[in-house]
Amino acid sequence: LIEIQTSSRDVTSKKIAEEAIEKALAKERELNELRTNLVSTISHEFRTPMTTIRTSAELISMYLENQNVVNGNRLQKRVTIITEEIDRIVELMNAVLTISKEDSGKTNFNPTSFDLKEFCLEIVDNNYLNNLNLPMVITNFNGSTFTVNADKKLMEYAILNILNNAFKYSEKSAKVILNLSSTSDTIVLEIIDFGIGIPKEDHVKLFNTFFRASNTDGFQGTGLGLYIAKTFTKKNSGTIALESELGKGTKVTMKFPLNK
Ligand code: ADP
Repeated sequence: LIEIQTSSRDVTSKKIAEEAIEKALAKERELNELRTNLVSTISHEFRTPMTTIRTSAELISMYLENQNVVNGNRLQKRVTIITEEIDRIVELMNAVLTISKEDSGKTNFNPTSFDLKEFCLEIVDNNYLNNLNLPMVITNFNGSTFTVNADKKLMEYAILNILNNAFKYSEKSAKVILNLSSTSDTIVLEIIDFGIGIPKEDHVKLFNTFFRASNTDGFQGTGLGLYIAKTFTKKNSGTIALESELGKGTKVTMKFPLNK
């Protein structure tokens, strides 16, 4: 009888504990939902005034260029600062929105099977070939098949973030190398630059949110790009690692399972 009583007490307390956990989880889901909606609303509400301010700044800039205004150069510099700061706010809002969506499980994830080689070539063609101010991307391919099973949008976001960093933290005329190779079960994507590099003591924190290395003064950024790139690479069953030497350059290596 004692045994039966004890086990029925165990069952009751287990049930109470389960209910408490379920309640706490529901509360957390609700809070996450609230936060995502808040971030989403704020960022959408910001977008319209930001666009208006940016367009106005561009008009002022054109006016200053056409008229011979006294102190025109100083004003022009101020207008440039306005435009750059707005771009920074919009970039930050977009990144925070992306993270908030991901945290609350709302990121669209539709994996398909595709050729990563063709995909990388498309990214380079669409984003860099027409911009003569940027250094060149040299692409090398080694292997016969490059099929991955992944979400294209998330893959593009991650690769573009890494490529943009490689350009941003390099001399305008320097080159960026994209190597893609495949073994019997893995595809390895390397993006190599010969830019400013990263101090050793900062390496461990690079994938944390809002972290920026100590040598990035004068470079615009949010400190969220690598965090998002890592999150999306993991979601696509991949891994990401970074090696860097101050003053010499940086190599980011992403690995994905080959989809046979
Ligand atoms: P950010 O928007 O600041 O570029 P990221 O999250 O993309 O943020 O990168 C985090 C930090 O890592 C950057 O601020 C920079 O200090 C460093 N970093 C990333 N990629 C490179 C690179 N290719 N060369 C030099 N530093 C880099």
